[in-house]
Amino acid sequence: LNAFFQPVQQLVQLYTNYQQARAALGKLRGLLRTAPAVKEKPGAVPLPQVRGGLSVRDITFGYDRKRPVLRNVCLEIAPGETIACVGPTGAGKSTLAKLVARLYDPDTGTILIDGHDLRDVTLESLHRQVGVVPQEPFLFAGTLRDNIAFARPDAPLSAVEAAVDAVGLRDLVDRSPDGLNTILHERGQSVSSGERQLIALARVFVAEPRVVVLDEATSSLDLRSELQVEAAIQRLLEGRTAILVAHRLSTARRADRVIVVDDGGILEQGTHDALLTAGGTYATMYATWESHTTT
Ligand code: ATP
Repeated sequence: LNAFFQPVQQLVQLYTNYQQARAALGKLRGLLRTAPAVKEKPGAVPLPQVRGGLSVRDITFGYDRKRPVLRNVCLEIAPGETIACVGPTGAGKSTLAKLVARLYDPDTGTILIDGHDLRDVTLESLHRQVGVVPQEPFLFAGTLRDNIAFARPDAPLSAVEAAVDAVGLRDLVDRSPDGLNTILHERGQSVSSGERQLIALARVFVAEPRVVVLDEATSSLDLRSELQVEAAIQRLLEGRTAILVAHRLSTARRADRVIVVDDGGILEQGTHDALLTAGGTYATMYATWESHTTT
């Protein structure tokens, strides 16, 4: 009798796991859709396919309106350009990135993508073309495939496989007992923090947005994972507009333009070389960073 019940029990367990995974997925999607800080306005229209030009016009924003984190910030980003934001902790770099992805709305001022005010377009269409890689990537209880296809749940297997290869996650897939169908646990004990970051990057590959907003993780990785993550980021940026919150100046060095955010505004901006020649804040930051690192 046991020989009959055991497989049935296993099936029931599998089904329960599957249900839990689906519930977790639904909950997360719900959470993202109803991001408390922004609301879709009545009559919002779908954002047409963009080239990815961004225009930040005189924005002021504070989590508490009385204490602005950013004041009168202006920034023009050309389609395909990579911008790295650097600056001291708490300067407002991540906040600027979040505003560009419309995770918050500015208190005053406007942000446009290819001339469309972010507030005039539907959230779903905006988030399809502006991909976000958060500083602390999250995993949810579900399969590796579901985790990777998170931003585009209907993605065909071929797109998920291509993303796996693009970010260098093939090893993880091959090592996992059920390949892409292996269940990951919420706290993701089964994956290293480097792999977790690669999964977050793979998500953006699958979604293929025109614009990428990437808040670089601060956690330190071993050299091999670090190089893998760097390579995946470089590949992701090809042909896309990007705003990177760069915690490593090696990332800033490779960007088309660096902006130094401090005291609620943009203190300096230019190419890495131009800023070094100018000998200002960035040049000092870079010299300090270089003397502490061997990269
Ligand atoms: P870091 O390099 O440490 O990531 P940052 O330059 O990205 O810093 P932000 O994260 O943009 O800085 O934070 C700017 C300011 O806004 C800080 O004073 C921070 O404490 C505050 N802040 C950030 N997020 C929130 C939030 N969700 N609610 C309230 N205040 C916040």
